[in-house]
Amino acid sequence: KIDPNSDVAIAASVTPQPIEEVGARLGLDPQVLFRYGHIKAKIALEAVRPAEAQADGKLILVTAINPTPAGEGKTTTTVGLGDALARIGKKVAIALREPSLGPVFGSKGGATGGGRAQIIPMQDINLHFTGDFHAISAAHNLLAAAIDNHIYWGNALDIDARRINWRRVVDLNDRALRHVTVGLGGPPNGFPREDGFDITVASEVMAIFCLARSFEDLEERLGRMVVAQTRARQPITAAQLKVTGSMVALLRDAFQPNLVQTLEGTPALVHGGPFANIAHGCNSVVATRTALGLADYVVTEAGFGADLGAEKFLDIKCRQGEIAPSAVVIVATVRALKMHGGIAQKDLGPSNPAAVAAGAGNLVRHIENMKSYGLPVVVAINRFTSDTPTEIEAIEKACAAVGAEVHLCNHWAEGSAGAVGLAEAVVRLADGPSDFKVLYHDDLPLVQKIETIARRIYRAGSVAFDAGALKKLADFEGMGYGDLPVCMAKTQYSFSADPGLRGTPSGFVLPVRDVRLSAGAGFVVALCGDVMTMPGLPSHPAAENIYVDETGFIAGLS
Ligand code: ADP
Ligand code: MG
Repeated sequence: KIDPNSDVAIAASVTPQPIEEVGARLGLDPQVLFRYGHIKAKIALEAVRPAEAQADGKLILVTAINPTPAGEGKTTTTVGLGDALARIGKKVAIALREPSLGPVFGSKGGATGGGRAQIIPMQDINLHFTGDFHAISAAHNLLAAAIDNHIYWGNALDIDARRINWRRVVDLNDRALRHVTVGLGGPPNGFPREDGFDITVASEVMAIFCLARSFEDLEERLGRMVVAQTRARQPITAAQLKVTGSMVALLRDAFQPNLVQTLEGTPALVHGGPFANIAHGCNSVVATRTALGLADYVVTEAGFGADLGAEKFLDIKCRQGEIAPSAVVIVATVRALKMHGGIAQKDLGPSNPAAVAAGAGNLVRHIENMKSYGLPVVVAINRFTSDTPTEIEAIEKACAAVGAEVHLCNHWAEGSAGAVGLAEAVVRLADGPSDFKVLYHDDLPLVQKIETIARRIYRAGSVAFDAGALKKLADFEGMGYGDLPVCMAKTQYSFSADPGLRGTPSGFVLPVRDVRLSAGAGFVVALCGDVMTMPGLPSHPAAENIYVDETGFIAGLS
């Protein structure tokens, strides 16, 4: 039996509006909606282009404190705030990432919000949706095939088969594919070599898809990707394999933003979904800019906590996408602040206002950081039914002490009615002055960009670069990539690189073990610790709970 309070049951209890009606709310003619059934559509390029060029709405960024593994409700709050803005009469659109099948079948579950703050159809969005990720996988794997094929037919480019960094992708968690051998079986099958798989959302094609502005830009960026080296250690780019035109052809339809709705009928553009560690972790620039052209207020989410997700949103996406938020919402929860106050995961249940107060420093630091970008900030307490009044008071007190506006939000339980106070505050802040500036200039050397983020955002005492990382950074600068922004790959659970260091660590040494060039995406990745680009499944993956009943209803998704 399906639990009537589960996300999937709540979603199923609402009758969705025809997608034409949702589009009409953004002034979109039915002619420009390519429908996938009745309640999903892609917005045609002829409507995307002018909206994207205009992009004059107010952008509201939803970010969070350092989370617990369950997530603190950024997506849920993005949806609840969007609905609340619609409720107070604003022309609003939501912009979100598309979920990956990895977490859907793994442990985190779907990414369509929760309770009465969800986007629908949640089963479709969490599963194949409109096929964008399949298209991205195909484009990525076409290039992988082209590399092995090039070597097979004589290797005119002199690709060193030991130095191919372009792996293959599939959008599932499958640890057995991390390291594989390809080309086995004798001469007709090519040259055996070590290879491996990443999850699709970790592909540079995904990052590019989410930052490119046009097909021309898409093809140029794909062409710039460094996929291998020659035996003389010269870089081989994707352009040299000559299949980037075909890759763009595979991505052509996917490149148009998807339109769906919330449980309350608010339009949501759900498009692209790069990893938040080795990539920047937010939906496509095309979708955000299109939403900004169509609506007066656009609510969007950046992955992970504000130290990682918001920093990359502001310093990578806003820089490249030529957009700027007008206000930032920081989501905080009682349970995560208790954890920052020193309480173990298994003991987060009982009320503990002292621990909340002790952990509130984590929130305060994120508030300071976001303000340092010149942006107005409001805190949203995402209320859980287990929260007690004294615990909530502890958060309110900590915010008052630093002059930060805070709103208790109950959108998970109540939908838009639970976030009206937050929506009113956001409108006031977004309509008021802001003075957004990125954290560092393009021309700062790469090492100093990393040090700036580490010191100013994480509060590290210093950065310890492995010798190899320093050499590579110098090489990247020599190759002309010194003006790129930096994409930090770090744990989301702490300001530091140690997931166990909760609260407000400072003065620590941030290790930078390795760096990678994502020349097409347009950033240099700094790896602060081990980064998993092909996750594994837990002992009891969510995939064990999902089934289809006789009516065709997909149950068990969360
Ligand atoms: P994030 O985007 O920050 O990772 P989500 O919005 O996806 O977080 O929420 C993570 C999970 O927590 C989801 O399963 C969601 O349904 C649940 N959740 C979010 N807010 C609440 C709440 N106030 N009460 C109960 N569950 C919640
Ligand atoms: Mg989310």
